[in-house]
Parts: sequence; C-alpha cells; structure tokens
Amino acid sequence: MSTGTAKPFASTADTQPKQATLSEVADGVWAYTAEGDPNVGAVVGPDSVVAVDARSTPTHAQEWLDDLRTVTDKPISHLVLTHYHAVRVLGAAAFGDATVVAHAGTARLIEERGQADFDSEAGRFPRLFRDLGSVPGLTHPDLVFADELTLLLGRPGPARREVVLRWLGRGHTEGDVVVSVPGEGVLFAGDLVEAGAAPYMGDSYVGEWGGATLDRLVALGADALVPGRGPAVQGTEVADAVGYTRTFLRTMHEETLRVVRREGTLKEAFDRCHERLAPDYAGSAIFEHCMPFNVQRTWDEVSGVRPRVWTAARDQEVWRALQG
Ligand SMILES: [Zn+2]
Repeated sequence: MSTGTAKPFASTADTQPKQATLSEVADGVWAYTAEGDPNVGAVVGPDSVVAVDARSTPTHAQEWLDDLRTVTDKPISHLVLTHYHAVRVLGAAAFGDATVVAHAGTARLIEERGQADFDSEAGRFPRLFRDLGSVPGLTHPDLVFADELTLLLGRPGPARREVVLRWLGRGHTEGDVVVSVPGEGVLFAGDLVEAGAAPYMGDSYVGEWGGATLDRLVALGADALVPGRGPAVQGTEVADAVGYTRTFLRTMHEETLRVVRREGTLKEAFDRCHERLAPDYAGSAIFEHCMPFNVQRTWDEVSGVRPRVWTAARDQEVWRALQG
C-alpha cells in the first residue's frame, strides 16, 4: 500500500504550460522549442515549407503554425515525422494536404501500435493532449523511405533548397529520421538526442541507439542541432547533448544488465539505474516520468524481447511496480 511517497503517475502532475519559442537556427531554418516539451521545426524553401513534426493535437499544432506564420506565408508542402510517437504526429490534421513523410518503420509502428500509443501518451501527459477531440484519427504517412530521401524545394537553380531525411539505424524507435539542410550545418535530431531532458526509451533499441546510431549522427558533423526536447544547441554544445544522451543510455544498459546477470529483480534494476542517474539527470525534464518505462524496456532488451506495446493498463502496472 501507499507509504505516502508514491509519485504521481508519469507527468499527470505537470500542469504548468511551457513557453514555446520560434528561433532561426540557420538561414530559413526554424526551431520551435518549448522548455523541455517536444520540439518541432521548419525549413523554408523558395516556394514552400517543410515542417518537422506536427505536435500532439491539431490545436497544439495550430499554435505552432500561427507562430510560424509570423515568419513565412508560404504553403507547407511536406510534414516530416521524426518518429511515430503520438505527441509528435497527431496534430497532422492542422497541416492540410501537406505530404506526410516518414521512415517505413514509423508507418509500420503506427499500424501496429499507433492507437495504443495515443491512449498511453494521452494518459501519461494530459497537458500535452489538450483538446484531444480535435484529433480526427491516427496520422498515416503518404510517403515512406528506407535509408535516405531528399526533398527538392523549388526549381533547379541557386534558390533551390534540399532537405535531406536520413534513417541512421534503430534508436529511440525503429524508425527515427533526422533532418538536415546541406550547407547549413543544422540537424533536427528528433528524440535521438535530448538536451536537458531525459531520453524516453520505452520503444527503443538501447544498445544500438547508444552505439552505432549515435555514431552515425555524430559523423554527420552538425554544428547546430535541434534536440527532441530542450534548447537548440550549437558548437561544442552539440557534442555535449549527444554525450548527455549517450551516457544516460549506456548507464541504463550497464546497470540493468548487471542486475539481470545476477538474477535480480526489475525493481532492483530500477533502483540501481535511478541511483546512478539521479545525480546528473534528476533535474532534467521528464526524468521521473521516463524511468519506469526506460528500465522495463532495457530489461526486456537485455532479455532478448522486442519492444512491447505500451497500453494504458500496462503503463499503470509498470508504474505501480517501480514508482508507486
Ligand atoms: Zn519520442
């Protein structure tokens, strides 16, 4: 029974609105960051705009579009989904007939578990799903790719702009896309990299993410990066944000593997991971929210289990076992 120390479920006690800020991170490349809430962005081409992620509901998306409209009135031709999570994709209806682009793995995940994820995320973080009724249904991509896709904005010539979408391997999910603009040195990292927020690992491939996938991201050599959550970073801060994310993943993996090998319990793994990470990460956005789901997923991975579907019921069960 409750000892009086049980923590409120996930982010249900986080009700204070965050301030979103539109900033130009390179010429015509905009980041819309929100004090630890999920970030989105846009690349303005000669005739049209590519948006990166939609936000959680059409109502939340419209706020972002209204701010974007203060800097460009060009139509949005493409909406790129960095991955399948509800908080990033369910606002798509606000983007009208823009072509929705994603990795093939994201399309598969939406088919398989999009509705369960919608229910789960809305329960975990109600503030981010205000006006849930404005969501007309799941967001399904119109166009998917495997490794790389370049969107060519405008006619051939000096004004043309390329937007390059890449899949760098499995990571935060099996279908994460990073977005860059050649010549600008800017990378939208989706949730593969966080800055001042805990990585969410519930659908992740922990070892690959913290290994080859982040290695490939680093090899792109970005000198400015828009993380999934937290402020846009530049210069040496880019490596700091990648390191901050990677250390979190590796610590989780190391501690959990140790407990599994000695045939300990999930709760012991949670306690060990929490103890190791809290000194550096407890002040990060969504740290307590993420930890039970992160430990459960890491436990499954080191036990050879593919990411399982999170449902509202399973969320509660894992929370009670580890944070209750
Ligand atoms: Zn995510």
